[in-house]
Amino acid sequence: MSTIDKNIFEKSGARGCSNSDYNIVKTTCCNTYFVEDAELNDIYFNPATLKKVIDITYANSCPVCGSHVWDYSQLVELPKERTDWQWVYYLDQEIVESS
Ligand SMILES: [Zn+2]
Repeated sequence: MSTIDKNIFEKSGARGCSNSDYNIVKTTCCNTYFVEDAELNDIYFNPATLKKVIDITYANSCPVCGSHVWDYSQLVELPKERTDWQWVYYLDQEIVESS
């Protein structure tokens, strides 16, 4: 299932198509969180603006650290630590009250 809320994400400027499915991923080079559109092979790498997007088919270096040896792994659940992507998390979990 998705970790990122498609509705919020696309209303905020993501260029995805109707089949797009967004997931949070973490790079192996610099441990940065990105959002991946698995359908279009897009990577959103700036939580402040979804206009910052690259097609991984043509990206030969990490957009954050510049490493030419870069990859990312999918996360099956939302990260426990704080990330700048929390505003687009898909939360089907029960609401956790902050104390
Ligand atoms: Zn990197």
